[in-house]
Amino acid sequence: MNHVARADFDRYMTPNYAPAPIVPVRGRGSRLWDRDDREYVDFAGGIAVSALGHAHPALVAALTEQANKLWHVSNLMVTEPALALAKRLTELTFADRVFFCNSGAEANEAALKLARRYAWDKFGSDKNEIVSTTGSFHGRTLFTVATGGQGKYSEGFAPLPGGIRHVPYNDLDAMREVIGPNTCAVIVEPIQGEGGVRPAADGYLAGLRALCDEHNALLIFDEVQTGAGRTGHLYAYMGAEVTPDILTSAKGLGGGFPIGAMLTTDEIAASLVVGTHGSTFGGNPMGCAVGLAALDIIANANTLQGVQQRHDQLISGLRTLNDKYDIFSEIRGQGLLLGCELKAQWAGRSRDLNAAALAHGLLCLVAGPDVLRLAPSLLIDAEDIVEGLKRLDAALADLS
Ligand SMILES: *Cc1c(COP(=O)(O)O)cnc(C)c1O
Repeated sequence: MNHVARADFDRYMTPNYAPAPIVPVRGRGSRLWDRDDREYVDFAGGIAVSALGHAHPALVAALTEQANKLWHVSNLMVTEPALALAKRLTELTFADRVFFCNSGAEANEAALKLARRYAWDKFGSDKNEIVSTTGSFHGRTLFTVATGGQGKYSEGFAPLPGGIRHVPYNDLDAMREVIGPNTCAVIVEPIQGEGGVRPAADGYLAGLRALCDEHNALLIFDEVQTGAGRTGHLYAYMGAEVTPDILTSAKGLGGGFPIGAMLTTDEIAASLVVGTHGSTFGGNPMGCAVGLAALDIIANANTLQGVQQRHDQLISGLRTLNDKYDIFSEIRGQGLLLGCELKAQWAGRSRDLNAAALAHGLLCLVAGPDVLRLAPSLLIDAEDIVEGLKRLDAALADLS
């Protein structure tokens, strides 16, 4: 494929992304190589997706085995991988039922539609209001940008779906003010990921649970970013010890293969009667086979404990760098979802830092203009962490 180049993006693709100057061609574990065979340490994980790194042998084996058997039959039939993954997810979580789709936005779309439909069934059509939080991110479909709490993502796309209100994150009093008899659901991320790696404050999720119970509203946890082992728990709700009514998962669930899932209870799932919702590709055997192989490794106690060890190593390395450069006002997050907030004098420069890291062979992420975000593989080697931090050190030296 030597006849294409990065410049072709600007010519042939819609301009809604600003991809980095490099074109990666292969990866292994937490290293990536571009077309010029330049090597990178991966602290980005494809935005919290490549949970087990690149080309994990178990995932490659699951994918190739399934690819040789059956790719697609549609939901006119059910396949073994879908049945097996659904069963495993219900064994490992609060949920009794699973709906499969292909992305986080679709999982949230399903969750929001189900919440409306369930309330309509049980309480009538007036109970249709959704409460979300400012700064939240729930995907890019029209319903999910309207639900998300960042105006820039819905600007210019009106008319938007109605019946959605926003209150500040981590503010129970604000939630208490707006939640009421017509609220069908509250949707929240246990850690706001895109919104700056902002974790729920102590007691916040439990407080939301109580308010939802009081008003017969469903509590939806968007665990698209925090799920699949990212926080060192299989799902973040397990660490918070607060159980939602509906949970959405995607990103790391397929370890890099596109798959999304909405998890819920028997009682709530009963509202999704035949014909109410669907997806052509949802539950396809390839995604489910890879998802099952990924889940086997992610849900393993060694993997989850390893996330905490890697967290400790990264945090201590980042603190050492901060002692040297005095650039971050806060280093926060759980497990391997970390956010480094830039000090006021560096405000707005997370992209510059990200670009400097790339120039030194390190892939990182941003979460808004002021936060450098890291979401490496849950299996990243200690040596890769050391090497990545060394490259971040060089990037910080450049910048300061
Ligand atoms: C990434 C993300 C989404 C959207 O997922 P897509 O697969 O891009 O549709 C939704 N919610 C959260 C919390 C996310 O981080």
